[in-house]
Amino acid sequence: MSGVGGVELMLRSTRVITPEGTRAATVAVAGGTITAVLAHDAEVPDGARLEDFGDDVLLPGLVDTHVHVNDPGRTEWEGFWTATRAAAAGGITTLVDMPLNSLPPTTTVDNLRTKKDVARPKAHIDIGFWGGALPDNVKDLRPLHDAGVFGFKAFLSPSGVDEFPELDQEQLARSLAEIAGFGGLLIVHAEDPHHLAAAPQKGGRKYTDFLASRPRDAEDTAIEHLIAQARRLDARVHVLHLSSSDALPLIAAAKADGVRLTVETCPHYLTLTAEEVPDGASEFKCCPPIREAANQDLLWQALADGTVDCVVTDHSPSTADLKTDDFATAWGGISGLQLSLSAVWTEARRRGHTLEDVVRWMSTSTARLVGLDDRKGAIAPGLDADFAVLAPDETFTVDPAALQHRNRVTAYAGRTLSGVVKSTWLRGRRIVDRGEFTEPAGRLLSRHP
Ligand SMILES: [Zn+2]
Repeated sequence: MSGVGGVELMLRSTRVITPEGTRAATVAVAGGTITAVLAHDAEVPDGARLEDFGDDVLLPGLVDTHVHVNDPGRTEWEGFWTATRAAAAGGITTLVDMPLNSLPPTTTVDNLRTKKDVARPKAHIDIGFWGGALPDNVKDLRPLHDAGVFGFKAFLSPSGVDEFPELDQEQLARSLAEIAGFGGLLIVHAEDPHHLAAAPQKGGRKYTDFLASRPRDAEDTAIEHLIAQARRLDARVHVLHLSSSDALPLIAAAKADGVRLTVETCPHYLTLTAEEVPDGASEFKCCPPIREAANQDLLWQALADGTVDCVVTDHSPSTADLKTDDFATAWGGISGLQLSLSAVWTEARRRGHTLEDVVRWMSTSTARLVGLDDRKGAIAPGLDADFAVLAPDETFTVDPAALQHRNRVTAYAGRTLSGVVKSTWLRGRRIVDRGEFTEPAGRLLSRHP
């Protein structure tokens, strides 16, 4: 006989993170969906299996809306197989893939189809796709929206790859008007090209020289322009990977004025500082750059007060040979999928934030950003049974050899982090258990029509 209400699985912990807070509970799952959050000592129905995690924390699987998978085309940098394994090992159950660094980029419906065909058999977790807004693809935006991309990424300064050119202000206005016309979302790499061009470009091994080449005012100005465009068009925009704390007052004021603006930052801006980057250590290079400790303090404050909405990895690897010791020419991008939860939790805790805060920044808010909050981002009835089981007080030292992403370059090597992911669950199925993976069971997700 099957269990009451068809419940197949009961997940029990003394610390379950729910939208109402953390409590001892047992979560009932049927058909891959959470059906109820019950008392800790709830009776296990006939036919249901009980998993008791003791005092380990049961939290909703993370939703990482900023990942560069690079597959197909630059799969020697990263691919769906390795990226989704790294994500699963880190407690992430949904990722949204960026439209660039793969070949083709996700800038037409045909290209989206190509990407999906490649991703489908390799998906250890659920995968959605961003589209790209280029100077010459305005006509492709609506079809991509209808085909289910979650929004459109644009650059305002060179992207790093030739096939994904940036938009000038006029092109940005044209693309944003088109996207606003069908109620879409524009997500923007906001660094102003004129400020970058005016900054000293010394090159070489010194991190301080690299930092001076990507000044805060490049970010601040680009964000100021973006806010003006969003305000004029009543368009929905999202600032990617905010690093400059100088932009926070602008952002807070725009939000207070009702501009439809959201903002993300990344684990590396929150946990690493410019002062500690060794010269020549380009595993720390990303754009915009990791800034000073005082800047980092303000980013944390902005997360706490809601000026910044969410934390995403911006996982953007390359082959190790492109990570040369010259900051000007080395590939820019930090690989953070597998370590993001532990890295953020380690620093969040030190600063007096809770695991509930971390879940809000890395799961609930990101799910909401892409309109998946009716299925992802919380432990509540009706949502997908996606979970991470975390031992928050256990520590580990980052060993690059233990990482699942393709090129084991990491800015976190040797750091001791708190929070060990014990297992990860996707729609009621354990997909990774202490480093052992099941066959891929992820699905490809589309924006809700
Ligand atoms: Zn990125």
